[in-house]
Amino acid sequence: MPLPIVRTIADLRVQVGAWKAAGLHVGLVPTMGALHEGHLSLVRLAATRAERVVASLFVNPTQFAPHEDFAAYPRDEARDAALLAEAGCSLLFAPTVAEMYPPGASTTVSVAGVSEPLDGAARPGHFAGVATVVTKLLLQAGPHVAAFGEKDYQQLQVIKRFVRDLDIPVEIIGGPTARLEDGLARSSRNAYLSESEREIAGRMNGVLADAVRRLKAGEAQAHVEATGLAALERAGFTRIDYFEVRGADDLARPGGGPLRVFAAAFVGKTRLIDNMAVE
Ligand code: AMP
Repeated sequence: MPLPIVRTIADLRVQVGAWKAAGLHVGLVPTMGALHEGHLSLVRLAATRAERVVASLFVNPTQFAPHEDFAAYPRDEARDAALLAEAGCSLLFAPTVAEMYPPGASTTVSVAGVSEPLDGAARPGHFAGVATVVTKLLLQAGPHVAAFGEKDYQQLQVIKRFVRDLDIPVEIIGGPTARLEDGLARSSRNAYLSESEREIAGRMNGVLADAVRRLKAGEAQAHVEATGLAALERAGFTRIDYFEVRGADDLARPGGGPLRVFAAAFVGKTRLIDNMAVE
């Protein structure tokens, strides 16, 4: 059966309201489309906690800087809808930009602290765009639970923080990063890679794994970071935004808690990110 698609907030609320009135739990999986196994694993994860799963498909202009890939971002709604139906999704919410941002929209959700380092520093304004659109999606759909990937680990922590700070009544759950055979994190942006770039991209995972090994062996964090940066350069990454060890919960410079290693680098024109827990 083709996946039902709604394009307005009003229609979304009618459907979710009917499910809730019938006593069903509702899960939400926000996406920008160009779906892959990572997105589908989140649909299946949400389905373990909710009888009905809504996926949203919205390439959010406010989280892209003017020089970034908003216009080029891959879009194929029919393919995405078929994959979602197969994964057990019940409804696709695919609003227009005008539905999400009517003229005069002037409110932004910005999160201090956790959204400042790493991608917050490399992509100014990005997390305000993400936090604003995810706040809207959560208020529009009103799900019991919403699932996000650890692939975008900082994003997951930003979302957990504003959900708590704004008392949004939803449980945020994180799913593990889906990877390809050589360890490359699945990403819609992998579609941009040429064959030779794809080979370079696959090396980021090994550099992160090596950093985790070194940290566990007791090597100093600053040394691990310098070694990782040099290894990414040698692997063929053209511009490296960061390779950093941080606290897993607050993304601060590590104190005593659990650690995580974060990398962001370009292969040619394509920017890739990945991260790994030190455990
Ligand atoms: P995107 O469409 O890239 O905005 O991602 C939508 C959701 O899918 C976000 O919660 C991402 O963290 C998650 N996601 C993207 N890639 C992966 C992956 N390889 N594994 C798990 N989750 C992912």
